Amino acid sequence: MPFYEKKCREAGIELNNIKSEEDFLKIPFTYKDDLRKTSPFERTSTDKRHIFGLYSSNGTTGKKTFYVYNYADREKQAKFVREYFSSIGMKKGGLGAVIAPIGSQVMGHCMMWQFEIMQMGMTICSDLTPESLLEIIESLPVTDIATLPRMASSFSENTEWSEAAKKSSVERFVLGGDFLSDARRKLIEETWNARAYNSYGMSEVFGPLANECIYQDGLHYIDEDILIEIIDPETFQPVKVGEPGIAVFTTLWEKGFPLLRYWSGELFRKYTQPCPCGCNLPRLEHIGRACDCVMINKKYISPKQFENVVLSAGIKNARVVLENDFIELQYDKMGPAPDNDVQEHLKALFEMTSLVCRPLDHAGLGLESLKPKYIIDRR
Ligand SMILES: [Zn+2]
Repeated sequence: MPFYEKKCREAGIELNNIKSEEDFLKIPFTYKDDLRKTSPFERTSTDKRHIFGLYSSNGTTGKKTFYVYNYADREKQAKFVREYFSSIGMKKGGLGAVIAPIGSQVMGHCMMWQFEIMQMGMTICSDLTPESLLEIIESLPVTDIATLPRMASSFSENTEWSEAAKKSSVERFVLGGDFLSDARRKLIEETWNARAYNSYGMSEVFGPLANECIYQDGLHYIDEDILIEIIDPETFQPVKVGEPGIAVFTTLWEKGFPLLRYWSGELFRKYTQPCPCGCNLPRLEHIGRACDCVMINKKYISPKQFENVVLSAGIKNARVVLENDFIELQYDKMGPAPDNDVQEHLKALFEMTSLVCRPLDHAGLGLESLKPKYIIDRR
């Protein structure tokens, strides 16, 4: 494909000469910026008659990036969905609800397709508010909900909502679009009396490309279809199995927009120990977006770890600001204050000896959307 041939030629590599793993590791990474600068039609060899659709990523920097999806992608996604969702008990006869932004973004569509592939009924709501979801669960016998983790956990914040959640017919959540900490999973499962499964997808491939099984211990992925390298962002070399690094994706089917060593910017850890579920697929742990994490004494500290500490203590919104010689813990003044345990945990996590607490209102914490609210800032 001209897009990759040109990229490789500029790096002095002829794609036709790639014969070994050693050669493969010389192929330059593809970055999001490379995609922004090109049209989706430069990045596909799919005949226009075989294009299923053009979907975009969120456009967090203001400019949307479009990707070609073809019919081979839909078939491959169907294989992934059947493999993952049958194993967690999703089945024909169930009723799914998609509570996600639809528009031209791929996340909502993939959530819809997964219910369609499982031959389930489906209802769709692009309004991400607890009130909309409340109306749905009180009117319909929904069994499965695909949404963002914060949407699912928002029902713990109000007695009327949490009672409705307990009374509902919801059995499972398939969560995506954000990280899922153990503390948030516990909150969701207790609020709804349902199982909450993590999934990982990205618009450049499709969602979900990696999912949890019933043991909820790592995201399985189908390694015969996707090659995932875990790369050290400083040396740009593969890390040892089990160590954290940036996930780099190469897709191995006739994809509408094939990925060749695509630098996701997401931190993952790969592990290959057999899972109690008995399947042989490798597993990933999603640590978080590299740009949201901080490195302290050569260790990544992620918002997910921070969330685990504060949310376990009932603090639903908080931010930590790393100063030179102390940390400032900003928390929602409407909720509980951080006790000594939380403060000691955070000092250990961030390897600091001094911590100050600062209560703030919602505006001060920037609580206008459903984006992650456990933020690590460095001054
Ligand atoms: Zn498993």
